[in-house]
Formats: sequence, structure tokens, C-alpha cells
Amino acid sequence: MAVSAAHASHVPTVQFDAALIRKLSQQGPRYTSYPTADRFTDQFGVGDYLQAVNSVRAMGARNPLSLYIHIPFCDKLCYYCACNKIITKNRSKAETYLTYLKREIEMQGKLFAEMNQVEQLHFGGGTPTYLNDAQMADLLAHLRKWFRFATDDAGEYSIEIDPRTVSPERVHTLRAQGFNRISFGVQDFDPDVQKAVNRIQPEEQTLGVMQAARDAGFRSISIDLIYGLPKQNLITMGQTLNKVVAANPDRISIYNYAHMPALFKSQRRIAEEDLPSGETKLDMLSLCIKRLTDAGYVYIGMDHFAKPDDDLAIAQRQGRLHRNFQGYSTHAEAEMVSCGVSAISAVGSSYSQNEKTLEAYYESIEQGELPIARGIKLSVDDLLRRIIIQMLMCNFELSIKSLEMAYPITFAHYFATELEKLRALEQDGLLKIDSEWLTVTPKGRLLIRNICMVFDRYLNSPREAKLERLKYSKTI
Ligand code: SF4
Repeated sequence: MAVSAAHASHVPTVQFDAALIRKLSQQGPRYTSYPTADRFTDQFGVGDYLQAVNSVRAMGARNPLSLYIHIPFCDKLCYYCACNKIITKNRSKAETYLTYLKREIEMQGKLFAEMNQVEQLHFGGGTPTYLNDAQMADLLAHLRKWFRFATDDAGEYSIEIDPRTVSPERVHTLRAQGFNRISFGVQDFDPDVQKAVNRIQPEEQTLGVMQAARDAGFRSISIDLIYGLPKQNLITMGQTLNKVVAANPDRISIYNYAHMPALFKSQRRIAEEDLPSGETKLDMLSLCIKRLTDAGYVYIGMDHFAKPDDDLAIAQRQGRLHRNFQGYSTHAEAEMVSCGVSAISAVGSSYSQNEKTLEAYYESIEQGELPIARGIKLSVDDLLRRIIIQMLMCNFELSIKSLEMAYPITFAHYFATELEKLRALEQDGLLKIDSEWLTVTPKGRLLIRNICMVFDRYLNSPREAKLERLKYSKTI
């Protein structure tokens, strides 16, 4: 898809407009996939997945592979957590899990044999470093047995780290084991905030392992923060941001804490009176954007910031940024094969999700079957809307002409209803529409989900009750 000359030559900017956010912020999906995972059905099964793999093979399997490995275990519960995780100190559970995970990797490896190499590997969780050194080495050797990997300088091999679980020595070992990108869960440096969310993580510990990651030669170091946590205020946020900027990571993600205790049981342990008000949250977001852009970080989109010379920022300038279940990525057009409980794959024109409980996951593998529980086969309309949402999320613009060349549609006719809704957002100043481009304004970038939601056919179908949106977090 085309990128406008203006886009190619300028670093995207972002403009914070509190009144506009107040007016338009609503509940909506984060679009790590389209259709979103809540549209997957159990009508989709292993047979459909195998068909998707076969079509990829039949088309010449040109795309590289991206592997995701899910390790669901954590030592301790963080109260804000909305991930699919299992809290246990019983390490033998990880041993059992690894046995099954390796069998699933072997099944997937056989399916993709002779196809393209792996250019991306991501370990997520839970806590991937719940595994010890020997278990990690064994798992990586198993992955290398069943998949062909690009060399260290060509591939992106990343792991999410809970700094409480690793020593500086362990970080060096992870680099030697083949990881070249690392992201650290920090959330907030303030001790009172840490206490309120049950995640005590001394600053020296976090900074120590970050330094070790630099010394070990990791190519990209990333920090995850959250705003909207209990006991946070503008002062604590300012102090945390100062420390983050001083720590000098290549990428920073700042997530909005969505307090949804009805959906996530662990969040019921958070005292509601400790939560910052909506207004304070907006001020904190404004502060984050100001501090980080003043410090030279580029706003990539959807909570992500990166240094201008980081691969993500470069890929965005060149119009080849991509978005998947792990957020933004520089490797577009990869077949994403995910292994582990609840993991989601994106192969060909399909999404598929593994069983969500360990019991069901183990049982399928025991029967020699891939543990796929649900998914969706994308229609041509889904594919078209997916590319539009992808373009808007990653590049903040859409070339109507390129889309019309790639798909047999006339944009103004096919999306007549959507254009009407977009005109209202144009009046609000979120985007500009002409016959060739949809261009998101700097003010519209923070509300990009609102613009994407216009193209979400499922969300806009008559069946979709307004109440159903309550399962999503707020767009800001
Ligand atoms: S936030 Fe991370 S470490 Fe904490 S419980 Fe959730 S998955 Fe585990």
C-alpha cells in the first residue's frame, strides 16, 4: 500500500486535545486483529486450520514465519492483570506444560516443514522466565529442531521479562540463548503504587537488569508502563517518567489501565477509592506524551513510543509497520504460528485460538490433535477491512487509490455508510478526507480506535447491542 510523500518525510506527531478526548472516548477494541478475537467461533476447528496452512503452501509459502510461544505461569498475582495466566509456585506444573508444548511445536513444525524460515520469535505470558535456564535452553533447542531460523542480525527474537524473576547473569544467558530484543514490565516505579497492585519491584533491580541487557548486546530494550493504577497521581507519574527517560530504553509502551472487575476477578482486590479520577488519568496521559516527545521519542500509535532510530519508528516512516497480537511489528505479511495454551495464530486468511484451559489443551494434544478450540475464516470483506484498519493504525493514513487497485471496489460506493460517519469525525478534527487519501490528524491519532471502529462491520451490525461494547476497554 502507498505511503504519502508527506508521511514518508515527516515523523508522525501527536496532539493532545482534552476536550476532544472527553467528547469522543468510548469503549472499543484495540484491534490487534480484525475481526477481533471475540468474533471467533467454535465452528472453526483443526480442519479449517489445516486448510489455511495448505492454501499458504499452495500459494508458494513466500511469507516468513513468526512464532509466538505462550508461557502462562506467574509466581504472584498482579492485581491489575487481565492476561491469561496461572498463578502457582508449584514448578512441576511448568515441567508438565513443557512436555505438551513441545509436542504441539513438533506438530506445527511438521506442518510448516520446507516452508519459509522464522524471522520473528516472541515469548510472552504469564512470565516466560518462570522457566529456568535449562528448561529455556531445552525449549529453544526443540524450536530449532522443528523450524529454520533467520540469523541473529536478520531475525527479531524477543522475550517479555518480569525483572523480579531474573538476575543480570540470567539476562546474559538469555542473549546467549538467542534472544535479541527484550521488554521489561515496570508499570510504575512508585513504591505505594507497586504495593497497591501487589507488584513490589525495587527500582535498583529493574535498572540493574536493564543495564545487563545493554551490556549483553540486546538490540532493542523496551519498558512497559501503565497509567490509571491505584495511588497514581501527576506527581508520581512525573517521577516515574523522569526515571524511565533516564533509563533510556529504545521503546516505551504506556497502557491505559482498564478497571473491569466484573470481567477480571483479580481486579476486585484493587480499592476503587485509590483509583485516579478520569480527569487525572487524562492529565497523566498528557504528561506522558509531553515528557516522552520532549525527550525525543516518536509516538508510534496506540500507547507505543520509540526512539527515531529504532526499527519501529523507521518502519513507520517507510510505511511497512504492521500490527499483530503482540502490538506493533516491523515484519509485515508473516504467517503467525502460536503455540501454548490460549495462543492465537494468524495463518493465511484465518485466525485460530488454542484451548484456554490446561486440561483441554493437554487433552487435545494427548489425542494427537492440534489444540485449536475456535477461530474464524476471513471473508474478502474481512480482509479488506483488516487492511484498512491495519493501515490506519500503523500509518495514520489510507491511500484510497491503492486500495481500489488491490480490491475490486469503488471506495466511495462500498464504504458510503462509513464515509458518512467519517465526515462527522472529520468535523471534529480527527481526520481529513479527500478523493485519494484518508489522513488522520495529530489530534485524531490518540483516538485512532474511534476511526477504526467505523470500519468494523461486526461492531456496526444491527445485532450488536450497545451493551456488548462494555466488554471493551475505553479508547483513551
Ligand atoms: S501482570 Fe504479568 S506477571 Fe503480573 S500476574 Fe499478569 S501476567 Fe503475571
